[in-house]
Amino acid sequence: MLTCPVCGERGIGKVGVEQYYCWECCVEFVMKGSEVKVYNVLDDGTLIQYSELSPTAQT
Ligand SMILES: [Zn+2]
Repeated sequence: MLTCPVCGERGIGKVGVEQYYCWECCVEFVMKGSEVKVYNVLDDGTLIQYSELSPTAQT
């Protein structure tokens, strides 16, 4: 079962090829194999990289 990489909830909607949206924390994420990239969605639809909550992640 697919879960959100940020909050771990299962309220996930598919919005594109390998692209999903979490209704719980309103982030969008892209899964390519084992790699997951998370984005915040701005009001105008712009995607910005989500990194604030993962200080240990390499940049
Ligand atoms: Zn979430």
